[in-house]
Amino acid sequence: MGDSVVTRFAPSPTGHLHVGGARTALFNWALARGRGRFLLRIEDTDRARSSEDATRGILEDLAWLGVHWDEGPEWRDARDGVVIGGDPRGVGPFHQAERRALYDRHIERLIESDRAYPAFESADRIEAARRAAQAEKRGYRYRRPADWDRAAALERMRREDHVVRFRMPETPVEFVDDVLGALRFGEEHLDDFVIRKRDGFPTYHLAVVVDDALMGVTHVLRGQEHLNNTPRHVALQRSLDFRTPRYAHLPLIFNADGSKMSKRDKDKAARGALRAALAGDPQATRERVDRIVGPDRLERWLSDAKRQLEPRELAALGEALGVDLPGIDVEDFRRAGYLPEVVCNFLALLGWSPGQKDDEGRDIERFDRAFLAERFTTQRIGRANARFDREKLLSFNQSAIAELGDADFFAQWSDWCARYAPDVLERFDEAWRRRFAAAIRTRCRTLADPTARSGPGAFALVADDAFPYDAQAVAKFLHKGEPSGCALLGEVRASLLAAQPFEPASIEAAVRAFCEQRGVGMGRVAQPLRVAATGGAASPPLGDTLALLGRERVARRLERCLAECAPAA
Ligand code: GLU
Repeated sequence: MGDSVVTRFAPSPTGHLHVGGARTALFNWALARGRGRFLLRIEDTDRARSSEDATRGILEDLAWLGVHWDEGPEWRDARDGVVIGGDPRGVGPFHQAERRALYDRHIERLIESDRAYPAFESADRIEAARRAAQAEKRGYRYRRPADWDRAAALERMRREDHVVRFRMPETPVEFVDDVLGALRFGEEHLDDFVIRKRDGFPTYHLAVVVDDALMGVTHVLRGQEHLNNTPRHVALQRSLDFRTPRYAHLPLIFNADGSKMSKRDKDKAARGALRAALAGDPQATRERVDRIVGPDRLERWLSDAKRQLEPRELAALGEALGVDLPGIDVEDFRRAGYLPEVVCNFLALLGWSPGQKDDEGRDIERFDRAFLAERFTTQRIGRANARFDREKLLSFNQSAIAELGDADFFAQWSDWCARYAPDVLERFDEAWRRRFAAAIRTRCRTLADPTARSGPGAFALVADDAFPYDAQAVAKFLHKGEPSGCALLGEVRASLLAAQPFEPASIEAAVRAFCEQRGVGMGRVAQPLRVAATGGAASPPLGDTLALLGRERVARRLERCLAECAPAA
């Protein structure tokens, strides 16, 4: 097919990249892979809501996912220095704010051919008319008055603030969607919508149509929430003599509880948790959260479901209230320790399936980006709403980690630490971290697990005097038996600490030699040692566990345990 397919992802940089946007990007990437080009365009014509920070965040998240754009803003990957993007065909710039002259040219063309016209009503007047229509239960549509005087309006346009509106055709707009089939938009969609705002910037509708045409976009895959915009775009294309690209509107994404997934879900969960905490202990809760969000702002947020807090405020609130807020943004999943390849795999299944069976006749669900790129077609995108199954995502991640070798796991975990737990890199040298990661890898479900407070690696990161003892484990392994576990700990201590070197094999040899000489089974000594070293009865193999801690820390922990856990006399 050569370069015949050109797709694009066109985010508005008003916030983080969320899973819906990431899926759109991934599908557009997959369709263009090996068949053409995938471009990235930043739709920043809403000057009040767009920011450079948000743009940077989106590029970084896409780069992390491995959804690399062939054309678009340049981005140098921090890890391998690879440069993504650029403008080989000369269709940029890729920020809409830098393309105003192009939009104006096309707006002029539309005005000249009387497909667009200036309008002077104030925003208040339009709003009043909208409300009046609502009160009468009819949809509001702006239409050019029949007695409109073109010459006077064009004259007035030079002197007065105005918007430019597009003259929507009187007849229904029809087009074929690659997912939804033949569609027809009648009457209620035929509004003379604004194409240039008072501030001189084009609206999204105009900019998207001009850019898709000038950038040679052949396929537009985007979320179904844009479906109602499409008749406007098609009508504009026809008036500008642009070819209509093929559209494919992707199914909406729903939460497991049947609600539509929304960027406000995190706020909703945090609000619920805060209300519950306030009902329980108002004063203590206030003290905990007032430091995070000032009382006034908090009050406004609590009473208005539409308001959103900053991501870092939400993260802090979640932590203070001890609740896990549902991840929505790509960054949430990165922070939570998901592998980018797994996130892509999971996103791909939100509305698409490869339609192939494995050897046992089950649908193939686990695949990498290359597989996706090879098989992806719009024909296999479903119409039904997609369900965001967090358990499934976690189980994918767990299997992927289990399949990683120690070296890859270490590399990915190190990247994760550099971003989210830099203190771990400072506290422990690389050799130690490598051993630590290898010892706990198979018990990790995410890259965040090694450093999680009650995760499989917590025993090695916590201070020697700071971990609690599990009461059941103490009763069972330290108090019971004759001699008791505690007594055996006291006896094994000297020969264990004398193991030379203090490495897994020699540690285990020392314990085995003691057990043989004492005439007790290995478990009678190994379990008490585990409890003493970690506070509980589950840990990596004993030799690894103790070697990771090192001789001195093991000595301190044994002493502490003997002092704190001795059976009552
Ligand atoms: N800028 C739009 C958005 O972020 C993209 C619309 C489109 O893909 O046409 O939702």
